Amino acid sequence: MKYDIIIIGAGINGCAIAREAARLGKSVAIIDKQTIGSGTSSHSSRLIHGGLRYLEHGDFALVKEALHDRTRLIFAYPDLVVLRPFILPVYTGLGRPWWIIKAGLYLYDLFSRFIAPHHVMEIDEFKTKFSALKTKGLKKVFTYYDAKTDDLLLTQTVAQEAQEHGAIFFENSPIDEIKRHQDGYHILCGERQLQASILINATGPWIDEVNHRFTLPSRYKISKVSGIHIVINGLLTTEPVFLQTDHQRIFFIIPENKTNQTVIGTTERNETGETDQVHVNEEDINYLLSHANHFLNTPLKHTDIIQTYIGIRPLVESKQSMVKTSREYQLDLHNFGETKLLHIFGGKLTTHWSLAEKSVQLLRL
Ligand SMILES: Cc1cc2nc3c(=O)[nH]c(=O)nc-3n(C[C@H](O)[C@H](O)[C@H](O)COP(=O)(O)OP(=O)(O)OC[C@H]3O[C@@H](n4cnc5c(N)ncnc54)[C@H](O)[C@@H]3O)c2cc1C
Repeated sequence: MKYDIIIIGAGINGCAIAREAARLGKSVAIIDKQTIGSGTSSHSSRLIHGGLRYLEHGDFALVKEALHDRTRLIFAYPDLVVLRPFILPVYTGLGRPWWIIKAGLYLYDLFSRFIAPHHVMEIDEFKTKFSALKTKGLKKVFTYYDAKTDDLLLTQTVAQEAQEHGAIFFENSPIDEIKRHQDGYHILCGERQLQASILINATGPWIDEVNHRFTLPSRYKISKVSGIHIVINGLLTTEPVFLQTDHQRIFFIIPENKTNQTVIGTTERNETGETDQVHVNEEDINYLLSHANHFLNTPLKHTDIIQTYIGIRPLVESKQSMVKTSREYQLDLHNFGETKLLHIFGGKLTTHWSLAEKSVQLLRL
């Protein structure tokens, strides 16, 4: 079967590109070895956010783009992407000083055009509303705004929109062979033979493995950083809480009101093995429990955990220079006459819309 475009990977980025290309009238096939959104796009912190902490690394372009996408996602999916107050308590001797956070929050407000500016919460109010959290050493409490979503549902919704514009999805379809010929890419997926002049590799943390297996050229590679979340029954807090550890790392306590559960995460661990072999280990669980318990009046126990999940962040590294890994995505286009190959390196759940628009522009669709 012949298409204009074949996309490998039905995560949020592959689905968003499929939607944009199909909207432009292109015939699109999207192949996933598992199901829509089953990869990183259903193992995230489920936040649609600018990324407050990226400000301190000077990733202003990323934060601005993410806040722009946050705004349009809130308007496009009012039931699925919901602006919420995020509570940021600052404790003496833990994390950044309050005035640095205040400066960051001001910049965050500026980049989001003061849609919902931050404010200070009285400590007495915090004591009443967030009674699960300790107040000893509490210096200041900020409230700022970001959005919550359901990552899998958002990905499935974008996929459905792509389908409504004509994109064809092949799930549970592992690829056996990819060959580039004069007339484009030929892909073998079990009994199925697909052909297109444009191939897009949107396999998230699997990207290097796919490139290696099918000898696809690329200018970047990824560094894999896993993150786990633990899930607790019941709501520990009524709104998401942003906490800082003694090593300036951060984690969230996130209430899932619909399921009456609380999600706590995340960790950061460099992974060197195969993406499919990565799994939650005891050390990560202990890390989250001990850091959460540092702030909780009633400590959580292992037996309180009803579920854990792990996702892998594909952080981009250039093959040419040893630049630092970046949270920003890279679109890596290779032209072979009329045949094109585009790799999607990195990309957040939040920025899928901009990433997809930039991809179709780069491909001149
Ligand atoms: C712990 C954690 C927390 C995060 N929290 C947030 C957050 O709160 N907000 C936010 O904006 N972002 C967050 N992110 C980032 C975000 O989740 C990811 O960047 C995003 O989901 C990546 O989407 P993707 O489409 O690129 O990749 P994926 O969703 O991983 O999709 C890749 C797809 O490719 C398929 N695939 C792989 N190999 C093959 C093959 N050989 N053939 C066919 N298909 C294949 C996989 O099955 C998978 O479905 C988080 C990430 C992690 C790890």
